[in-house]
Amino acid sequence: MSDTMFGLKKEQKGTCAPVWHDDLPIPEPKDDEVLVKVNRAALCGTDIHIIDWDKWSRIWVKPPVIMGHEACGEVVLAGKNVKDRKPGDRVAFESHIPCGKCPMCLSGKSNMCMNMSLFGVGRDGAFAEYVAAPEKITYKLTDDISDDVGCLFEPMGSGIRGVEKAEVEGKNVLVSGCGAIGLTVIAGAKTFGAEKVIACDILPERLKDAEKMGADITVNSSETDIISFCRDLTGGLGVDAAIDVTGAPPAIVNGIKALKNGGRLVGVGFPSGEVGLDLTNDVYYREVEITGVCGRRIWETWDNFAKVMRSPYFDASVIIGGTYALHDFEKAVDAYRAGVPGKKLFRIE
Ligand SMILES: [Zn+2]
Ligand SMILES: [Zn+2]
Repeated sequence: MSDTMFGLKKEQKGTCAPVWHDDLPIPEPKDDEVLVKVNRAALCGTDIHIIDWDKWSRIWVKPPVIMGHEACGEVVLAGKNVKDRKPGDRVAFESHIPCGKCPMCLSGKSNMCMNMSLFGVGRDGAFAEYVAAPEKITYKLTDDISDDVGCLFEPMGSGIRGVEKAEVEGKNVLVSGCGAIGLTVIAGAKTFGAEKVIACDILPERLKDAEKMGADITVNSSETDIISFCRDLTGGLGVDAAIDVTGAPPAIVNGIKALKNGGRLVGVGFPSGEVGLDLTNDVYYREVEITGVCGRRIWETWDNFAKVMRSPYFDASVIIGGTYALHDFEKAVDAYRAGVPGKKLFRIE
């Protein structure tokens, strides 16, 4: 092993793409960390925000930093206090690094840690040959989970968290938005026993993918009124649960209106601003619940996602929209910006 590595570093604050380096020092893991040789990483919308330096980035990103928070690889070195990981273990990373000490962490809700730090955002991440990471954010991958699928846990996991919160078993569930995360939500809802999954999107090709991932009914929401469609389908009642992956205010409002009285909306996609609601008529009078998800439960959501991956509904090939060499990072970003569907992966070799 040489003592330098390649990697992509966001050098400074402001709008700028990360810069390729061939001669970065290989990080030395601290006592509670492992050094991981990265095999596969994925491009996230967050990485685009970091390049574009949006409001969120200005708070969270600490340049110079090696980007990349969705990844998996193989442990090559373990610090002296590491207990459950050893060289040769394949692992994926949780990007939310909880403090382990705050009231949220101590009550088993570390996904809502009050002192969260972010892998590949506030500290060096995985768009590099090697990364040092705390043992507590590594999830051991079993042999039946490929590298391609291993790096999907983090990005798709929030969708599975949405399925958990919607408590889908035996329910009719509306899923709005059939991009990669929405497709995972559909497969997850079917895996965990949803009676009927109604998937809606405005793009016909996405609705075809939704069928492949187990949706019972697909609807084009640019052509069909979702609210009356859901009511007609349920004898006027409305759906039991709605999971919104779009983050688009009109879709969120439609999801709420399509619910039966006492139903629950779970938001997985984040709206970029405020959303106008008729709380009196659409929420209070009908005792509708509105909630959302913050990351993944560590490790319950990960274990649940592993079940979804092994189910007949989940097909990674439908979700993956191209694999690039890390050196071709810009090409993947261009494809993302051009709206090429599917998750873009990077081979790190
Ligand atoms: Zn991400
Ligand atoms: Zn905490």
